[in-house]
Amino acid sequence: MIPGLVDVASRRKNRLMTDPLDELRLRLTSLTRDLILIPSTDSRPAERKRCFEFIRNHLDQLERIQLREFQSNGYDSLVVFPQSTETPEILLCGHLDVVEHPEPDAYHSKLVDGRIVGPGAGDMKGQLAIMMELFRSLHSRYPDASLGLAITSDEERGGADGVRFLFDEVGLRCGLAIIPDGGSLNEVTIEEKGVLHLSIRCHGHAAHAARPWLGDNALQKLMGHLEDLARHFCKYAPNLEELAEQHWVPTCSLTVVRTPNQSANRIPAEAGAVVDIRFPPTHTVAGMLNEVAEVLGPDCELTALMKAEPTFLDPDELFCQITEEVSGRSTRLIRSAGGSDGRFMRQFGIPVNLSRPLVDNLHSQDEWIDVASMVTYYRICETYIARKLKLVDAGDEGAGI
Ligand SMILES: [Zn+2]
Repeated sequence: MIPGLVDVASRRKNRLMTDPLDELRLRLTSLTRDLILIPSTDSRPAERKRCFEFIRNHLDQLERIQLREFQSNGYDSLVVFPQSTETPEILLCGHLDVVEHPEPDAYHSKLVDGRIVGPGAGDMKGQLAIMMELFRSLHSRYPDASLGLAITSDEERGGADGVRFLFDEVGLRCGLAIIPDGGSLNEVTIEEKGVLHLSIRCHGHAAHAARPWLGDNALQKLMGHLEDLARHFCKYAPNLEELAEQHWVPTCSLTVVRTPNQSANRIPAEAGAVVDIRFPPTHTVAGMLNEVAEVLGPDCELTALMKAEPTFLDPDELFCQITEEVSGRSTRLIRSAGGSDGRFMRQFGIPVNLSRPLVDNLHSQDEWIDVASMVTYYRICETYIARKLKLVDAGDEGAGI
């Protein structure tokens, strides 16, 4: 026997016997790692375009689908529908923008202990890979499945030119949305806090710093008011330990303090700060603004940079049930301190299923996504979509990978 022939034959046999879940794991891993290589950040519009191109190349061989592109203030979105409808029953929704890292060689990944580690792995290139693969695989098997895909590129800066634009201005609608950008594998988000990004400005009078009595220090004034504000929010939770235990209360984080003054010996005439305020219902944007304005007093000029009301997401019970079935673990409904693009859909009464694979260290360079949980999440969504859209006979459900 020629040894070489035996080798080839057994290799071919091994290949044929590859576990479909293994194949899926490999496909999702390489797709995620390819996506991470594209630094699709806010400051790099050309790279965001390249990322859209990459996604389109993966989908445009599908027959009976339509790809639609939209743009708002320089931010592109891609929406893919079956040819039969532009109002799909289920819409997979995600974003391709990732946060900025100053190191030029940051945008690559490595595989460590079953995790893909790299910028954007968990927010949300890994989930993008899952959605692309789900869409491709389901549409090749069921070309008229009422399943759409929407990908935006401005979620990290608030979503106004992405999901808000698509729903408010383009008029995109769907029966319900799956957004894998919050919660966890066995945690489905039911409610999200409201958001208020507030710019606070104080004015004073410049003077030589050696003669402070001749000036009016805007920065010092601002710092005093910011301390009052911090003290005010302590009434909801006196310290961070308490917040870690029970976060469903309003919080206020100071994120930016600045003054145009550059001189060490000059009293600044202008100073500004930005705070990020989060609040659960029954608080509202208007109520929160009033509360903060009262604490800060007439010395401070306030501008709301971004505002969003607290959101009830109304996830589908069937999704939670299938999450338990596929993962074999009980599933909790959680309340989230963070916000998601889901809020723009809720204005139109569209239910949102918000959970995701296991991820951590989001927005840092060693952000990660767990590969086994990506496969589980894929199977949860596949089973859910198949059952919801009645794509398969009961006996076949979830077996189509
Ligand atoms: Zn995200």
